[in-house]
Amino acid sequence: MTVSKSTNIPFSRESLESLLKRRFFYAPSFEIYGGVAGLFDFGPPGCAFQNNIIDVWRKHFVLEEEMLEVEATMLTPYEVFKTSGHVDRFSDWMCKDLKTGEIFRADHLVEEVLESRLKGDKLARGETIIEDDDDKDKKKRKKNVKEIKNVKLDDEIVAEYENVLAQIDGYSGPQLGKLIEKFEIGNPATGGKLEPPIEFNLMFDTAIGPSGNLKAYLRPETAQGQFLNFNKLLEFNNEKMPFASASIGKSFRNEIAPRAGLLRVREFLMAEIEHFVDPEDKSHPKFNDVKDLKLRFLPKGVQESGSNELIEKSIGEAVSSGMVDNETLGYFIARIYLFLTKIGTDPNRLRFRQHMSNEMAHYASDCWDAELETSYGWIECVGCADRSAYDLSVHTARTGEKLVVRQALPEPKIVEEFEIDIAKKKFGPKFRKDAGKVEKWLTSRTQCELEDLSKELAEKCKINVDIPEVGATEVDSELIKIEKRTRTEHIREYTPNVIEPSFGIGRIFYSIIEHQFWARNDDADRGVLSLPPLVAPTKVLLVPLSNSQELQPIVKKVSQILRKEKIPFKVDDSSASIGKRYARNDELGTPFGITIDFDSIKDESVTLRERDSTKQVRGSIKDIVEAIKDITYNDVKWSEGTSNLQPFE
Ligand code: AMP
Repeated sequence: MTVSKSTNIPFSRESLESLLKRRFFYAPSFEIYGGVAGLFDFGPPGCAFQNNIIDVWRKHFVLEEEMLEVEATMLTPYEVFKTSGHVDRFSDWMCKDLKTGEIFRADHLVEEVLESRLKGDKLARGETIIEDDDDKDKKKRKKNVKEIKNVKLDDEIVAEYENVLAQIDGYSGPQLGKLIEKFEIGNPATGGKLEPPIEFNLMFDTAIGPSGNLKAYLRPETAQGQFLNFNKLLEFNNEKMPFASASIGKSFRNEIAPRAGLLRVREFLMAEIEHFVDPEDKSHPKFNDVKDLKLRFLPKGVQESGSNELIEKSIGEAVSSGMVDNETLGYFIARIYLFLTKIGTDPNRLRFRQHMSNEMAHYASDCWDAELETSYGWIECVGCADRSAYDLSVHTARTGEKLVVRQALPEPKIVEEFEIDIAKKKFGPKFRKDAGKVEKWLTSRTQCELEDLSKELAEKCKINVDIPEVGATEVDSELIKIEKRTRTEHIREYTPNVIEPSFGIGRIFYSIIEHQFWARNDDADRGVLSLPPLVAPTKVLLVPLSNSQELQPIVKKVSQILRKEKIPFKVDDSSASIGKRYARNDELGTPFGITIDFDSIKDESVTLRERDSTKQVRGSIKDIVEAIKDITYNDVKWSEGTSNLQPFE
């Protein structure tokens, strides 16, 4: 559908927020108890919109790629997240003002203070700043920020601040601590000194069962449930590689400072894909279908040089030049773009930002975020990372359960490898309670380590090693043998790599709403949400011209047909003027209106109105419903879908 949003009225976040609240898209949870930051309830249009996004997601990804959907539990035992690294590393950095007890997220604090100082500098230089006065969050913060003063800064300081801001996502806690010290950043409200940043783990902990002994967490992502089921999924897929699993479900993060409505919350819906691929072949059979798609990229090198300038190129070029690591990652980046634009994202406010070297997890080989521009700035809405073999490997190492692929080799392969034999009978009496640990340590050595150990054993008839939790240990040649042996392999065994596109549905939800919100020229209060019909909560508003009983049979007839066709619709036979009734539904993003008038009684013809242009056409009930179906579900344009209908003034 072509949207013609002709308006001179600038975007107003206050109007949008008022609409979202008034029409109950979503609202703070437990509001009558005062609410809890970062928790929201969705109302009827919000539920319908979110469900429609999920429905498109399932069709666009799960159906299209024959992914295997799984639903794992949200409660997860401690051991799983200890192994995955979340217990030790899933944290943000916070600073505390010991005097007032206030807590700040360290990176956000540095960002806000430097931004406000740069603004002060601009004002002092007499430059004008276009500010969004509706930003309540910012206003609240600004009220407290002593920092915004018209103070002119040295040019080098301005450059330094800009450089830091371009890389703000990449700093570690200690680095943020140094910046806070260097730039003399204190509590913005009082100027008070802050403690150096400390780590705060974002997982909500709990215990399973009455004893409280089984420590657990609410999952902060859906990925682990997919990794742990890898063997079952591979078997379900008849051992065929590559393949992907997918999960849709709630995740929980105890954010230090929830803010910006749905953008940073403590409980949110995620949709995640784990695409398992051979590490030696990351090509994608369907890459050709997307290779010419032009996208806007912000690569790591650009950010590291302190700039935010976007580079536009096709995903084909991005992969062939090595900017995007491999075809499969590139394929998903392109598919993410197609998904986001299909459901209403403005392509001009969408970019792919690469993680900087210091931002990316140590095991990841490349990572790109789909970011959407909103009145809160650029927001990461989808992460797309190549996580290498990390997750499957760590769970294999911890549990002893091999999460690997075994493939028959086309030709047998001769392999020369160091192997270690352990004289188990002598091991127990010698090492007693530590026997298991010593054995595990020895059998998990790499080939290089085994080579060194074999030399040591040959020279000294013993090895001296330091084993964690055991300490200095001597093992003599009575107990072990290390030899290079030749064997013939018929099977190749490998741990797949994982490409993970991870979608935060709430962030996408809000960003689309911002991208599609506008007000009609004649009236700033007449807000419209130009949601694509495919995801609009309700597709049709049925409006009898008057509440005369004569029109009721036609209302009933059209309702029956829409219901039979499973097209979501609402009847508004209130006494409000027809304009008012349409305006109420423009706010809900309802793309079509069917008007029933007194001529409808004569020939069963009705009028169809398009929300954005307010154009109207007339035709039989059957033809109008056909047009609605085609435009909503079959990607047909308004002009095409209504070409057999009569223009109606
Ligand atoms: P991450 O695992 O941190 O890359 O997050 C994956 C996706 O989840 C992000 O791209 C966001 O869309 C979403 N997300 C992460 N944290 C939050 C949050 N606190 N509130 C809402 N969405 C979030």
